[in-house]
Amino acid sequence: MNKVIILNKRPHGTPTLGDFKITSEEIPTAKDGQILLKTTYVSVDPYLRGRMNDSESYFPPFELNKPIQSGAIAEVEESKHADFKKGDFVTGSLDWKEYQTSDGKGLHKIISSDAKLSSYLGVLGMTGLTAYLGLTKIGLPKEGETIVVSGAGGAVGTVVGQIGKLLGCKVVGITGSDEKAALLKSTFQFDHAINYKTTKNLKEAVKSACPEGVDIYFDNVGGEISDAVLANINKYARLPVCGAISLYNETEVPTGPRLQPIILTKSATMKGFIISDLSEHFPSATKQLTAWLNENKITFSETIVEGFDNIPQAFLDLFTGKNQGKMIVKM
Ligand code: NDP
Repeated sequence: MNKVIILNKRPHGTPTLGDFKITSEEIPTAKDGQILLKTTYVSVDPYLRGRMNDSESYFPPFELNKPIQSGAIAEVEESKHADFKKGDFVTGSLDWKEYQTSDGKGLHKIISSDAKLSSYLGVLGMTGLTAYLGLTKIGLPKEGETIVVSGAGGAVGTVVGQIGKLLGCKVVGITGSDEKAALLKSTFQFDHAINYKTTKNLKEAVKSACPEGVDIYFDNVGGEISDAVLANINKYARLPVCGAISLYNETEVPTGPRLQPIILTKSATMKGFIISDLSEHFPSATKQLTAWLNENKITFSETIVEGFDNIPQAFLDLFTGKNQGKMIVKM
């Protein structure tokens, strides 16, 4: 039988395992023009939380009692499609199913390379592109500037920091454990790292790590962490708003400091972006990220969880920071 994970209930606040259900169905067979795919790796991502709500966003909501989808890598088990052969690996948005058929639309073949297969869900996939394009196209870094990155120990954050260093900037990361803070400095070349869970006065900690002020704030988390960074921005600062994970499980609209006076008096630019808005740049960005990886100028880390049944738990663990680097489930 073929295991499938469906949305059982819409989460209220922080999601729980009961919001998901593992069901089973017959393993499908490929018809003419189709391929049968066997899932190899599944990416769990914070944005999936938004799709579990019954509200329109940049992606339609998941339907109740239907499979959840996310970025995944799968192996072609059987092909009745001219463009694919058995043994090919593909990446794309797939259902949380062990096996599924596809007409190939929206799938990209992974051309065999030296890169680790799972890296196509991270540094060479959506999160790497988000880091590179969010920083370069919206953050507009200039040599010598100071970048602060929140969510720094995760898939996007670790890559943002390294690119910032490659471009000649000073980089400060904010993360949720001493272990991650140490890794940011030892493995990912950050100049400073702040543990937001143990720092009493985050605003002062950012000020002391950035005596020349903050020129770019790459925001992955929103909320109080961002309030503390915004209090330290320089004139003409750029603030790419990439994510707001600290707010995804809120059931009431939270209030905080009003940002307009800061943005106004600092002539700052705060700009949200969804990575698909920047798709025209994907080929050149992938080429650059691949080159940096091959030249060992950047590195990446992954937290690999084993087993199809553990996909929901791996997703939940994003909200408690159990991952270091990209969270991926291996079948
Ligand atoms: P991560 O790998 O960074 O995983 C999520 C991390 O968020 C956790 O490890 C945890 O680390 C941190 N976190 C969880 N809860 C909180 C909280 N309440 N306050 C502060 N930090 C928290 O995920 P990604 O790199 O995939 O994504 C990072 C952000 O970027 C997310 O907000 C995501 O939605 C967004 N994103 C946006 C895209 C776009 O197109 N705009 C595309 C991809 C991602 P810690 O130990 O530090 O708490």
